[in-house]
Amino acid sequence: MRRFIAARINQLMQLFLEFDSPPQNAEQLLQRLRTYGLNGIKSLKLTSNRAVMVSFSGSELRINKGYLSAPEDVLRAIVSFVQGRTKAERRLAQKVILTHPVAAAHRAPVRRPGRADPHDAVTLRELAYWHQEYNLRYFGGALAQIPLKLSGRMRSRLGQYTTATPYGEPAEITISRAHIRKHGWAEALHTLLHEMVHQWQAESGLPIDHGPTFRDKAAAVGIAPQARRELRTPSAASLVVTQHELGLRAARRS
Ligand SMILES: [Zn+2]
Repeated sequence: MRRFIAARINQLMQLFLEFDSPPQNAEQLLQRLRTYGLNGIKSLKLTSNRAVMVSFSGSELRINKGYLSAPEDVLRAIVSFVQGRTKAERRLAQKVILTHPVAAAHRAPVRRPGRADPHDAVTLRELAYWHQEYNLRYFGGALAQIPLKLSGRMRSRLGQYTTATPYGEPAEITISRAHIRKHGWAEALHTLLHEMVHQWQAESGLPIDHGPTFRDKAAAVGIAPQARRELRTPSAASLVVTQHELGLRAARRS
């Protein structure tokens, strides 16, 4: 019996020792999260994306590599975020996840040299004009002036609103270049206004989602209330595009 207890203690010590050292790679992090109750996730990818700290789609989980060094409560929050049954549970988990400072190196936007479009400056000026215009027209001029950006890296998303980070980076709205090219300026402005409704949610302290407050405001400003919209490309082929992925640090893909 004593020997059994000694062996048990030994096992536990080993477990503590293991838990003392942070996971070194995706596989070890996945193992660690499983010991905290994660299930249904088959693979884990480490990312270095500015906007998304944690996201999952199907059985794949993506986590910013800065979380390798996260303390236990933050890792447990990631599990709650994935496994959470209610919105309240996930929102609480998001808050804890965001308390973990991720080193700037892991959040640096990846810039692809040569990707910038010569028309960018003009497009950005136009977007800034319309942001101001819509702000006055639909939000009483109450929205903050925030950076507007173009991205050549958004595949299924048309635009995104990224909240300010606890590390001092400002909120921003990003519009997909491909979206403007494929669907035209009117649709791009529709997307800008969609993201501005999220900006209004964020600045009003409301949850950033497509729930009732979004739908009501969308109706008031005259835009489609859905996150996914059917758009027609010039080739007349219709496709359903994800309006965006929320630029929350902890984004959830549907
Ligand atoms: Zn949206």
